[in-house]
Amino acid sequence: MKAPVVVTTVRDLRRKVESWLRDGQRVALVPTMGALHEGHLSLVAAARELANRTVVSIFVNPAQFAPHEDFGRYPRDLGRDCAYLARQGLADLVFAPETRELYSDGFATRIEVGGPALGLESEFRPHFFSGVATVVAKLLMAAHPNVAVFGEKDYQQLLVVRRLVRDLGLDVTIAGAPIVREESGLALSSRNAYLDPRERAVAVKLNRALKCVVERVRDNCSISAAEAAGKETLLAAGFESVDYVAIRDADTLATINMPVANMRVLAAARIGSVRLIDNMAV
Ligand code: AMP
Repeated sequence: MKAPVVVTTVRDLRRKVESWLRDGQRVALVPTMGALHEGHLSLVAAARELANRTVVSIFVNPAQFAPHEDFGRYPRDLGRDCAYLARQGLADLVFAPETRELYSDGFATRIEVGGPALGLESEFRPHFFSGVATVVAKLLMAAHPNVAVFGEKDYQQLLVVRRLVRDLGLDVTIAGAPIVREESGLALSSRNAYLDPRERAVAVKLNRALKCVVERVRDNCSISAAEAAGKETLLAAGFESVDYVAIRDADTLATINMPVANMRVLAAARIGSVRLIDNMAV
């Protein structure tokens, strides 16, 4: 058990991180929205391999939610999250700001990323990546870590953050960490808490559908036919709608007509009030 220290202001965060940096320690940041699960803990463990000190930020970022989305009901329990981190014992500091600490009155800036942010999630959540890019830039400038760790669970987001950091010339390394799944194959997600038992039984089929898409591509099925089959499989499995099943260049997320060396299949589908995303290397 090692309980992390909790700070809520940028000033206290900076003071702590600067003292570590002055001592020659490497500092990692793991940005989260809380409701922590083993997927988040795996990022903290990865951070520990890359740095001596780990900061976990817990902030439900209003800028990345549209008005009709689940900002209001997103699970929040800082006490439980800190106890969970304490049991793992690898996080040194939790940064848990109030909204006004990051978005002061009259805040009027948004960062728009192009490239990997275009299409896929952006088609269905047009506000999303500018909200993510804005808060990630703020967190990186506030914490000044040597490295920040993001999950491949949000694969497009990982590429968007890499592009943001490169384009703005921020002095931080972005590390990706693999997806942590339940035994059923369902990728862990804070939003899985919204699933009722019937929806959960459907949700586990998302991962299986992606595996089928991967197998089809390996069996020389065309890209478009494999995508269409993935969509059919999801609808047949009980998803109410499928936002996309897309096979893309894994490095750029550019659309492809023919197989390329490094591919990723990404999908988003809805069941009940829940929208699930998942992805897999092809
Ligand atoms: P969130 O709290 O959902 O915003 O996620 C915070 C970070 O945890 C992001 O970098 C996510 O990609 C990552 N993450 C969420 N779920 C998983 C998972 N199942 N496996 C690995 N990383 C994850």
